[in-house]
Amino acid sequence: MLGLMQDWPLVISKIIDYAASQHGSREVVTRSVEGPVTRSDYASVRRRALQVAQRLVREGISPGDRIATLAWNTARHLEAWYGITGAGAIYHTVNPRLFPEQIAWIIDHAQDRIVLVDLTFVPLLEALADKLPTVERYIVLTDAAHMPETKLRNAIAYEQWIGEVDGDFRWLDVDERAAAGLCYTSGTTGHPKGVLYSHRSNVLHSMALAAPDALGLASRSCILPVVPLFHANSWSIAFSAPMTGAKLVMPGARLDGASVFELLESEQVTCTAGVPTVWSMLLQYMEAEQRRLSSLQRLVVGGSAAPRSMIEKFEAYGIEVFHAWGMTEMSPVGSIGSIKPALGALRGDALIDVKCKQGFAPFTVEMKITDETGRPLPWDGKSFGRLKVKGPAVASAYYRSDDPILDEAGYFDTGDVATIDTNGYMSITDRSKDVIKSGGEWISSIELENLAVGHPDVAEAAVIGVAHPKWGERPLLVITPKPGRSPRSEDLLAFMSGKVARWWLPDDVQIVEALPHTATGKLDKVKLRERFRAHRLPSA
Ligand code: ADP
Repeated sequence: MLGLMQDWPLVISKIIDYAASQHGSREVVTRSVEGPVTRSDYASVRRRALQVAQRLVREGISPGDRIATLAWNTARHLEAWYGITGAGAIYHTVNPRLFPEQIAWIIDHAQDRIVLVDLTFVPLLEALADKLPTVERYIVLTDAAHMPETKLRNAIAYEQWIGEVDGDFRWLDVDERAAAGLCYTSGTTGHPKGVLYSHRSNVLHSMALAAPDALGLASRSCILPVVPLFHANSWSIAFSAPMTGAKLVMPGARLDGASVFELLESEQVTCTAGVPTVWSMLLQYMEAEQRRLSSLQRLVVGGSAAPRSMIEKFEAYGIEVFHAWGMTEMSPVGSIGSIKPALGALRGDALIDVKCKQGFAPFTVEMKITDETGRPLPWDGKSFGRLKVKGPAVASAYYRSDDPILDEAGYFDTGDVATIDTNGYMSITDRSKDVIKSGGEWISSIELENLAVGHPDVAEAAVIGVAHPKWGERPLLVITPKPGRSPRSEDLLAFMSGKVARWWLPDDVQIVEALPHTATGKLDKVKLRERFRAHRLPSA
């Protein structure tokens, strides 16, 4: 027997309709790419999104067409997402930090018909334009006064483009399962892979993320997403903020410590989210200038492991740190470290120990860890295995690919290795490709790296497995020193000793000028392993 409730589709237009009707005057503040801080609100975002949708339809865009955006976090970019999805089309966020050839490959693979681009990235696209045959038109996200001279095909300033219609438009009716967004993973090996979100997956994921144990958003909140709309679906914030009526502060192109601090303070932000690199720049600024934030309560950090020292410093400033984990394929958030009542009495180091873990899964995410043969492992905080996930906002396949990506039980293998403790807290020990297999046992490269960066002379650390005749592989620590410092290998190893099992300690240390990174700023261990492939360990 079916229930007798209304069939109200979970589509993205409902979010902005709600925000405009209940929280219409709630602000959306932007540090614009042109320079000044500008102010809009949800009613205006909706009005202008309707113009975008109407203008796209006039342009001949049909449901299912892909529209690329190559843009910073701004109100215009937000309007574009709602306008594109409201016309039944698909926003395709292009990450400008990818290598130019990858950007061209992605736009071509997605067959984007229109590209909306920030002023910053116009030269990048001009250099690639020959390789983008599917693109019929470029919309530069600015007004006529700031429109640059450009040879980009049919280029027009965004304000002029939407100014050609009046916004008298009704959102297109779409199925809640229809595709809404497309985001490619950076793909450290091989081509990037397209993750295709639906209206329904975005709505459900954003509702789960707005909840108190996650972003904790309410109409009185004010959130600043440092995490870009172009990386992993903005961790849901483009939807969960309007959905709750939270004030939204968009930082534009300036993500340095001073600029982020200034906006956090002047707009009285209560919650913010971003990757560890951004937070270390903010911390450096706060320490150097001896400044404190007066309104910030919650700082979400994820994308790569947050170092313990970072968590400790923010907590000492009275800012609660929520360590999160996820990936593009999961919309992207898969776990977040709020404190459950069973742990409510913890203080000091014991509390920080929990915050160093990546947290527990919110509603809509199911997790398991398994051994190599696929057998489930216990949640005892010690057994580590492949982390697999399931849920309505987890990818079931990649865009334009026939390769199956789910196991027989419908779980997606995240490529991460993790433990889960009795309280459900997951802790990433490694990426499965990076874990070091020594004598049949696994050593976590991440744990050793976190330990090494705790040394006062170390700027950055990477640990990789190097071939060993007896053990198969043994860990090699590679570090870059802080400016003006020259730590000795023995001292580094002595510093680490006693903090992990003895057989985990690296067999050797190499000091280098720079470590290789991927386009999204993560350590490029593929390159590093190539570089040290022939390295002979002293123990070998
Ligand atoms: P890209 O590789 O394009 O940056 P993702 O953002 O999807 O793609 O990266 C997801 C991966 O990042 C995860 O599978 C995991 O390995 C890593 N990751 C994300 N958050 C954390 C975290 N808090 N701690 C450790 N690793 C993390």
